[in-house]
Amino acid sequence: MTLLRVENLTARYGASQALFGVDFTLAEGEVLALMGRNGMGKTTTVKAICRMIPSQGRLEFSGQNLHVLPSFRAARLGLGLVPEGRRCFASLSVAENLIAAARPGHWTLERVTRFLPRLGERLGQRAASLSGGEQQMLAIGRALMTNPRLLILDEATEGLAPLIRAEIWGTIAALKRDSGMSILVIDKTLSELAQVADSAAIIARGKTVWSGAMEDLSADVTEQYVGV
Ligand code: ATP
Repeated sequence: MTLLRVENLTARYGASQALFGVDFTLAEGEVLALMGRNGMGKTTTVKAICRMIPSQGRLEFSGQNLHVLPSFRAARLGLGLVPEGRRCFASLSVAENLIAAARPGHWTLERVTRFLPRLGERLGQRAASLSGGEQQMLAIGRALMTNPRLLILDEATEGLAPLIRAEIWGTIAALKRDSGMSILVIDKTLSELAQVADSAAIIARGKTVWSGAMEDLSADVTEQYVGV
């Protein structure tokens, strides 16, 4: 079943148009990699999906037209965002960050800390005192606390040390394998993306230039639109 349908999505920042027609679909239980070089419109696409910026075109989540809903309602439909730069509440404790996000469902504080034990060991610690990797875990835990139907990770491992990156990829793979979580992930590590993602959509200059199954993504296309 299609969980997220994006069709001819356009968006602008004031006078400057950023998206010119983004198209892709994400099926329930699927991991989709949203790819493209810097500044091509990946974050803008995510912001439009989460109704953080206005956009036009077709935007359907779980059969509902997101464009007719106020943004707070869209979030409650089950979009769990791990934003670029993590954005945890620095002066709140780990527990407070998690509890502040909680919505009813099976991802409770107990289950989240069992799944992400590093957080469980640091519940009383201020978020500001966590390492970058721990803050990313907290951002993931906070998104899970909202009991999302779709988890969106914008720059899942950016700026993190190799060991902690591996841990984040392990976390994403475990969510897919054990919880059947639907996931949209943006990251620059193509090899890791290729391992975990079922499908991909590539954006260049605000437009989808390729989408399909990950296994059908050729080296040529990758080099043309994604490679450095
Ligand atoms: P990156 O990997 O660098 O985050 P991206 O693919 O996520 O890149 P976006 O951040 O979506 O790209 O940016 C798409 C375009 O929109 C860029 O040209 C960018 O300069 C522009 N843009 C992004 N945010 C704003 C903003 N707040 N105001 C004006 N223009 C913006």
